[in-house]
Amino acid sequence: MDYKNYIKIVEDWPKEGIQFKDITPLMDNGKAFKAAVDEIVAFADEKDIDLVVGPEARGFIIGCPVSYALEVGFAPVRKEGKLPREVIKVDYGLEYGKNVLTIHKDAIKPGQRVLITDDLLATGGTIEATIQLVEALGGIVVGCAFLVELSYLNGSDNLEGYDVLTLTSF
Ligand code: 5GP
Repeated sequence: MDYKNYIKIVEDWPKEGIQFKDITPLMDNGKAFKAAVDEIVAFADEKDIDLVVGPEARGFIIGCPVSYALEVGFAPVRKEGKLPREVIKVDYGLEYGKNVLTIHKDAIKPGQRVLITDDLLATGGTIEATIQLVEALGGIVVGCAFLVELSYLNGSDNLEGYDVLTLTSF
């Protein structure tokens, strides 16, 4: 399936000069959404995954149906102040300023095999921070799956040594 047909490019959003890739038309189409989730499930199927982890918010949209299909749990990675119990956190740089991501301290048991999902790989900062959280808790990142990669931003340079699936790229 050519997933590009279901991704709308929005000019100058959220600010001027940015070409935002909107994945909501893909989610809106049951067949396209199922095909995308099925491809990620097939990628994950032979990896003996214990848990899916995804950063808010669009990592949840992809990760939850994948975890359901694999019959494993899902652990959310969220911005600071959003998770109610004890967390570990990591700071990472954004184009302007910085961001903090957190995960519950007991979300992952040492040695658990983790698939990380997100909608889109841009600079790689979000996925890198998510990997750091998983590994800090002793999880083993056995794969990272995205609907979209913005290959001109070279985010996959940060993912050398990891098994990465992207369904389409710009
Ligand atoms: P990165 O950290 O790789 O630079 O940015 C990726 C993160 O930002 C992902 O969590 C993704 O949801 C969000 N993101 C950045 N740009 C876009 C975009 O054009 N479209 C969508 N859907 N998400 C984006």
